[in-house]
Amino acid sequence: MTRCIKVLANLDIAEKRLPQDGRIFQEINGKQVDLRVSILPTVHGEKTVIRFIYRNHRGFTLSEIGFKEEDYIKIKQLLKNPYGIILLTGPTGSGKSTTLAASLKWLNHESINMITVEDPVENVIEGISQVAVNTKIGLDFSKVLRAILRQDPDVLMIGEMRDEETAGIAIRAAITGHLVLSTLHTNNAISSIPRLIDMGVEDYMVAAAVKGVISQRLIRRLCPVCRKKHQVTATEAIIYKVPEGIMVYKPKGCKACNHIGYKGRMAIYEILMISQKLQEMIAKGERDTEILQRIAEEEGMHTLWQNAYEHVLNGDTSMEEMLRVTYKQ
Ligand SMILES: [Zn+2]
Repeated sequence: MTRCIKVLANLDIAEKRLPQDGRIFQEINGKQVDLRVSILPTVHGEKTVIRFIYRNHRGFTLSEIGFKEEDYIKIKQLLKNPYGIILLTGPTGSGKSTTLAASLKWLNHESINMITVEDPVENVIEGISQVAVNTKIGLDFSKVLRAILRQDPDVLMIGEMRDEETAGIAIRAAITGHLVLSTLHTNNAISSIPRLIDMGVEDYMVAAAVKGVISQRLIRRLCPVCRKKHQVTATEAIIYKVPEGIMVYKPKGCKACNHIGYKGRMAIYEILMISQKLQEMIAKGERDTEILQRIAEEEGMHTLWQNAYEHVLNGDTSMEEMLRVTYKQ
């Protein structure tokens, strides 16, 4: 089986000791599907995980992602910046590529020159020049970026800032008149600031370039058919950091949800707006995330946890889900 998948995904069938990543393009029920194959060598043999990405799916627009009105306004405000960098953070599968694509679609206008560099191109968007990196032929992020900047785009999207060189080019582009959108792997929004500094970007450059950070997760929705009411016990209050005695919902499981108790997912997020105060602190070298986080919260940032907690109170999700997706805060 693994051998067959490897052949289809263009991977090395003889290699069984190293992890491998590949793609298979398939048409399933008339839909173009991009199968992302990941093979991991374990002591019991190779473990294969396949993610299904529907290429023809038109994707979400910004207004369909599920941002609250006040947050939707903040995001539009960020995207209206003529220059600077806007970051999206979250682990793999947090929906950040979807939000990124929706942001590009929102910005997309024939008078705007927009170019992306991605690995691979996940969502094909009409009217935008999208470039896929290809490390096999030496076409990496930094090489593509340098070529793109010679074309002087208004908006530039960099799939991911993985290395110092890419981060450096992205930040320089952001302070020299380009609007840059990119992603970082951090646990929350504020950690992006010290992360960029760790990647070798000077603190004053970070302060000048970063306009805002959106941190995102996907949280499972409770099945509305079988979810059951529950009063929070004293022990649960300690575990989940919620008031004792409040009413929440728990998963149960029924036919409608395949006995899982959950059906569908939704996005939760926190939006960090870099205010003048935060900008000055970052420029002066402040990189203590606790201090920066406190200022951001005083200035009105709702954390991932607060966002998830609202959904718990509304009965959209459970306390267990809230803890699972906002752990490591
Ligand atoms: Zn159910």
